[in-house]
Amino acid sequence: MPDTAALRSLIEIIDAMAPDFTDLSDRIWEFAELKFQEVRSSDLLVETLKQNGFSVRRDIAGMKTAFIGEYGRGKPVIAFLGEYDALAGMSQRSGVDRPMAMEPDGSGHGCGHNLLGSGSLLAAISLAKHLEANDLPGTVRYYGCPGEEGGSGKTFMVRAGVFADVDAALTWHPAPFNGVRSTNNLAVLEYYYRFKGVAAHAANAAHLGRSALDAVELMNVGVNFLREHMPQDCRVHYAITDAGGRAANVVQAKAEVLYLVRAPEMSQALALAERVDQVARGAAMMTGTDVEIIFDTAATNLLPNLTLENAIHNNLVSIGPVPFDDADMDFARKIQATFTDEAIKSSVRLYQIKKDVFSNEKIDGSTPLHLGLRDFEGQSHFRAGSTDVGDVSRVTPTAQCWAPAWAIGTNPHTWQVVAQGRSTGAHKAMIHAAKALAATGLDLVTSPQLLAHAKAEWVEKIQEEPYVCPIPDHISPAAQ
Ligand SMILES: [Zn+2]
Repeated sequence: MPDTAALRSLIEIIDAMAPDFTDLSDRIWEFAELKFQEVRSSDLLVETLKQNGFSVRRDIAGMKTAFIGEYGRGKPVIAFLGEYDALAGMSQRSGVDRPMAMEPDGSGHGCGHNLLGSGSLLAAISLAKHLEANDLPGTVRYYGCPGEEGGSGKTFMVRAGVFADVDAALTWHPAPFNGVRSTNNLAVLEYYYRFKGVAAHAANAAHLGRSALDAVELMNVGVNFLREHMPQDCRVHYAITDAGGRAANVVQAKAEVLYLVRAPEMSQALALAERVDQVARGAAMMTGTDVEIIFDTAATNLLPNLTLENAIHNNLVSIGPVPFDDADMDFARKIQATFTDEAIKSSVRLYQIKKDVFSNEKIDGSTPLHLGLRDFEGQSHFRAGSTDVGDVSRVTPTAQCWAPAWAIGTNPHTWQVVAQGRSTGAHKAMIHAAKALAATGLDLVTSPQLLAHAKAEWVEKIQEEPYVCPIPDHISPAAQ
């Protein structure tokens, strides 16, 4: 970790800039732009980079809302990853403790990416200012990564080679807890199965019809049986994206279903997806229809870097707890009252919260916001979700932390996340994350030994599992 004076000066820079960045996060919350449409959000982030002396490249890897800001000179190159996309159908007022859409079917920041993108930016800019003020070498980059939600923006950026000269990447995610995010997320592959049949009058010429909707239903039944025989910890989910129309008296000539296939390793996900494909072909054969399998997107499972995670953890210990006040706690308590006891307990289990570093006590979710620090035992644990940070972790040592922006019990992709997205507690968590990331970035600049250690760990792990980008060359982000 940086020496006390350096850490203090970094924290002073961050605290001085914090109001502008909470404002930035709030504006991005209001825009609530969906994947690859984050035009106003990316404009604001780019503007902030430029105002702070960063040079900016836009339109990265074929994505208009992807960009890279750079400051400084020479090695090492430290990357901070930012996200800023919202979720469809998640419109919700902030500061209330009940579901209240601002506009029906509108979008909302249901994963807190307004905080994520702004907090990472605060980390990048404060580190750049510190390097400048202390005449330290090193390049700070901010990667503006669009479309994390079902778009795998980072995977496209990795495929385009824009991380090639990066020495380490750091990022964070809002959460109910404070601590290193040492998880081994699942690899994911997403495909559309588009069935084509023959339309016919459903009563007087049904024998001439070939139902694409039947095929979708049979495929789903087949995959539900397949679940019994897939490896542990895999996940398969589907959504019918086209049921073939609203007329029950017409045999459906077209129908489509989207599948997400997740597994601990990409090789397992590919093998499982092949079995799902076979089920789809079987359903087509049974119904006399044709099936077209359309690749949508993919993200690779994370390659944890324990060296970097340990460095973040040490900084989180030095920084201390998030300074929540009574008002923060009161609002979080109201949000927490919307969860069942089981949801709160499950949150503690999901984040593998055992002992608190500061109090040395067991964390049980009895406080509405996490005032402590999750213990880091130097190992990663299973988590069923997926993230395109995984692909970045395959090309450069990468680590992440959580910051307690949400009441304990909050799950991502819920109205409660949107409702808490502009709270003072969430702002404090964002600033806290920026401090942890900037301090770790400074560690990497000032301690070549730490960086060498992180790289050696990464090289050893990647040799065991060589990386192949899971998105084929002919797939472009715009096509999604
Ligand atoms: Zn997210």
